[in-house]
Amino acid sequence: MSVNQQAHTGPPYGQPQPGYQGYQQPAYRGQPLPGVPQSQYGAYNGPMPGYQQPAPPQGYFPSLGFPSKGSPVSLNSDTSSLPPNSIGSLRPPPASGAPPPASGASVPSGHVAYSQLGHGDVQNGIPTSTAPVQRPPASQPFLPGSAHTPVSQTSTFQQYGPPPASVQQLINHVAGMTVGSTTVSAPPPAGLGYGPPTSVPPVSGSFSATGSGLYTPYTASQGPPPSSVSEGLPLAQPPFPGQLISTQRLPTQVPGFAPPPSTGIGPSYPPTAGAPRPPTMTGPPLPGQTLAGPPTSQPNHVSSPPPPPSTMSGPHHGPPISGLHGPPPPTHPPQPGYQMQQNGSFGQVRGPQPNYGGAYPGVPNYGSQPGPPPPPKRLDPDSIPSPLNELPPQQKPRHRIDPDAIPSPIQVIEDDRSNRGSEPFVTGVRGQVPPLVTTNFLVKDQGNASPRYIRCTSYNIPCTSDMAKQSQVPLAAVIKPLATLPPEENLPYLVDHGESGPVRCNRCKAYMCPFMQFIEGGRRFQCCFCSCVTEVPPHYFQHLDHTGKRVDFYDRPELSLGSYEFLATVDYCKNNKFPSPPAFIFMIDVSYNAVKSGLVRLICEELKSLLDYLPREGNMEESAIRVGFVTYNKVLHFYNVKSSLAQPQMMVVSDVADMFVPLLDGFLVNVNESRTVIASLLDQIPEMFADTRETETVFAPVIQAGLEALKAAECAGKLFIFHTSLPIAEAPGKLKNRDDRKLINTDKEKTLFQPQTSFYNNLAKDCVAQGCCVDLFLFPNQYLDVATLGVVTYQTGGSIYKYAYFQLETDQDRFLNDLRRDVQKEVGFDAVMRVRTSTGIRATDFFGAFYMSNTTDVEMAGLDCDKTITVEFKHDDKLSEDSGALLQCALLYTSCAGQRRLRIHNLSLNCCTQLADLYRNCETDTLINYLAKYAYRGVLSSPVKAVRDALISQCAQILACYRKNCASPSSAGQLILPECMKLLPVYLNCVLKSDVLQPGPDVTTDDRAYIRQLVTSMDVAETNVFFYPRLLPLTKADVDSDSLPAAIRNSEERLSKGDIYLLENGLNIFVWVGVNVQQGLLQNLFGVSSFGHISNTLSTLPVLENPFSKKVRSIVDMLQMQRSRYMKLIIVKQEDKLEMLFRHFLVEDKSLSGGASYVDFLCHMHKEIRQLLS
Ligand SMILES: [Zn+2]
Repeated sequence: MSVNQQAHTGPPYGQPQPGYQGYQQPAYRGQPLPGVPQSQYGAYNGPMPGYQQPAPPQGYFPSLGFPSKGSPVSLNSDTSSLPPNSIGSLRPPPASGAPPPASGASVPSGHVAYSQLGHGDVQNGIPTSTAPVQRPPASQPFLPGSAHTPVSQTSTFQQYGPPPASVQQLINHVAGMTVGSTTVSAPPPAGLGYGPPTSVPPVSGSFSATGSGLYTPYTASQGPPPSSVSEGLPLAQPPFPGQLISTQRLPTQVPGFAPPPSTGIGPSYPPTAGAPRPPTMTGPPLPGQTLAGPPTSQPNHVSSPPPPPSTMSGPHHGPPISGLHGPPPPTHPPQPGYQMQQNGSFGQVRGPQPNYGGAYPGVPNYGSQPGPPPPPKRLDPDSIPSPLNELPPQQKPRHRIDPDAIPSPIQVIEDDRSNRGSEPFVTGVRGQVPPLVTTNFLVKDQGNASPRYIRCTSYNIPCTSDMAKQSQVPLAAVIKPLATLPPEENLPYLVDHGESGPVRCNRCKAYMCPFMQFIEGGRRFQCCFCSCVTEVPPHYFQHLDHTGKRVDFYDRPELSLGSYEFLATVDYCKNNKFPSPPAFIFMIDVSYNAVKSGLVRLICEELKSLLDYLPREGNMEESAIRVGFVTYNKVLHFYNVKSSLAQPQMMVVSDVADMFVPLLDGFLVNVNESRTVIASLLDQIPEMFADTRETETVFAPVIQAGLEALKAAECAGKLFIFHTSLPIAEAPGKLKNRDDRKLINTDKEKTLFQPQTSFYNNLAKDCVAQGCCVDLFLFPNQYLDVATLGVVTYQTGGSIYKYAYFQLETDQDRFLNDLRRDVQKEVGFDAVMRVRTSTGIRATDFFGAFYMSNTTDVEMAGLDCDKTITVEFKHDDKLSEDSGALLQCALLYTSCAGQRRLRIHNLSLNCCTQLADLYRNCETDTLINYLAKYAYRGVLSSPVKAVRDALISQCAQILACYRKNCASPSSAGQLILPECMKLLPVYLNCVLKSDVLQPGPDVTTDDRAYIRQLVTSMDVAETNVFFYPRLLPLTKADVDSDSLPAAIRNSEERLSKGDIYLLENGLNIFVWVGVNVQQGLLQNLFGVSSFGHISNTLSTLPVLENPFSKKVRSIVDMLQMQRSRYMKLIIVKQEDKLEMLFRHFLVEDKSLSGGASYVDFLCHMHKEIRQLLS
């Protein structure tokens, strides 16, 4: 169906509802573009007696406007040389060196003259007959699937593969663990080595320090292991009373699993030397394992010529390599209990991932020799080299710790999905930890904001600042105020309290919410944030029931729901005037590169149809947004596209030093009214500049022009700037090439992230004051200083997109899909956000794309549905366990139709006096989101190495505090991780290795600045997949089901030469093809007969009519729709050049840029923690 068909169906809100089911707000059903929702609100039209005491808006500071330019502006227009009403389509752009004389066009001398625009000149009504509606034939180009436009969040969580069913999947469920920090390649016995599911409270992993010979697997759900396992095993110390321990005497280096101390299960045991080393991973595939092909064609390891200097993976077809460094210790015969495991489930241990067994059987693995077990090697954890100071590869152990014995992100994700994916998350209970972002779940709002809007690092916060400091766990919330909801969930209701505006606390100005306490029979309410008592306005009075609850509790969203909207009164508007609808201005670089690459033509063609899909309010026939057009190189060309013109008119401003808008009337127009003129303009632009020789561009004047146009029209809006090069032309904001890779790893590296001039900061400030949001599409062929060009985008809440070496054939799909989504997505303009908190904590720091002119208000010229703001909280007083802590996020914004609204999100958290409660209710994904943003801001002011060290130190303190205060007594040599944070080391390592903090040789300065900016606005789901990409074995996909194949861990050793994999991180999709993939599969997927014939320049997969091709393409399409940006598809052939790039994303391995492997980093963290504890 067409977007334009959307009828307004919003029912009035206000019928008494017996529960929460009753808010029958229309969902996005039927929307062609669920990811780009249009607002539909059922207005509440309750009785509104004349209560005339509007509370003055707090947290909003109306702009004082801008001083008019005192000096007369010069107009350089070449329109005088054109026939009237002609754009001069065959005329080349004027030479900037010779400014044409001022024409008869009206020359504004100040802002007063502009004010006529925006009042009546532009109609938003039904198009006149002279400008007939010419919608593009149907809406296909914008339908999900055809245009790959991202759809709603539902699909994000859908079809993510079945819950783990196999033993192998369970193997990855490492809940409690003891990792011997020794050179061991032998896996722990399967089926015993994992702890209770995540629903079982706190489980910790123990990291046995000095080559513990004891393996103490335990799982609560499994009960005691067969007695034969533990019999005869020498225990270094007796188990605690009541312990259920299955101990397995294993070789010294084998990581053992310790039961979680806090569950009353005993600790793991001190190291014992000289234990035997088991053979690993030999034998036939286990029952239930699926083979993608004949085992012989599926070697377990990818050999990558040349092998990276120090990866821990690589082909191991020779003798076992666990004892690679140092003389092997004596071998020991296998323990009796060990054999049982080998026959039972042991072989699966090396099958690292669900559904991944096929690659391994029959193939020698490291340490997997049949026959005598390979010699074990002990390694003193204290001698483990720091990941930052690695030993030469040849001295390094290949595997000191079995990667399967350390916490697996895949397993944690799978467990959460199976444990929490089936039931809706009901928000009625304070301090509930929501399911992970990778789990597909529905949310029922019963008084707290959905985790789609707010996620916290912990849902149980320490009562005192001393406790908080001791733990070092940052208290932060990641807030996405305009998040897109899946169709099954209700949008926030729009509540209209009439002329008096929303009911608020008299003192702190918090908005009415479910936590306000009504007293004195309902005549007053006590504020849940500041305790102040406020009179209930007469029109808002309602009686209380016997429990003290208002009888209209369920009728009012603001009393019963966590999230809702208020219609704002004129007091919440700039200059006490209701806003005009916003405008979009498209500003196209028409310099040589832009024209030659085909970009200008592409943009113009696309805009012809895209303009029919501007955001609309749900009940509106057409968008209220007006549009305008500018082209530029070193001069600017404005276009008059007034509907009464037969042809568009061009006006050139070549004096870019003092930018102004040369036309008042006809610059910002209604699309339907000016349809034919706009179409004519978009046809003519590519022709006009086809022969341009101009290579230089300006940049700041372009933004200034857009800003001035919005000022003149007295509206907010968005600039879409399509830009190709470093702006070196003489103009304000002119830049020089100051890229210098030699600065990397020096104290001056931070300058690479800083803007080279403060000019853009000041410009950004002006833009924010006007509500001028800047979206930037960059197409560089060389350095263009993203760090500087991105400043205005960043501070106005805009989005930045970068297409390096843009080529029409390979990049147009990506660019067009990004552009479509960016133009259509929901955005609030002229936004101000304030976060209020209950007494005891307060918001102290903010991360994201915004501007702040004071310490409390986050200002954004535009805030779209994808942007998040991360807020950090600090104590300013004691909290109480009884009352908990409350957050209220209030976002004041202008909707796409020009309506002023307040969106309110409330969240209640628990408070604790025991550190264990804090650690039990943390969310690592959110913690990583915060830490990444904190670190990425840190590089602006500190050396990158210092930032990395600080991150490591803070996380070590977090884990050491847990170890010291929450874990039951155990050997100091154990690494014990809190259950909720067991992935902290692996994820932290990914942040440390990211391009911003540790760039590889191929990463450009612009890439780093770009990534830095992107991450700063990412939500938790985006940072999760960005730092730990999703890796899917495509050859394991079930072509008959909708599900995705189960993900595997990001390590080269998980890849099989006989398989094809997909890796996505939110920006890129790689399809990796092993050298031994069966010919039939290659034929089906690529339409080629051999590996050698696969083209690695493909940017899309060929459309072939067979089940495998369809399945893979549907997976790619589905992933594209889940992400806020269209991902670049890159085909990587094993052993090909591009494989180096691909390996960069195998984040559990050691990286080429020196980043530690997961295993090495875990050892390093352990060392850090031990130092803190000693
Ligand atoms: Zn208050």
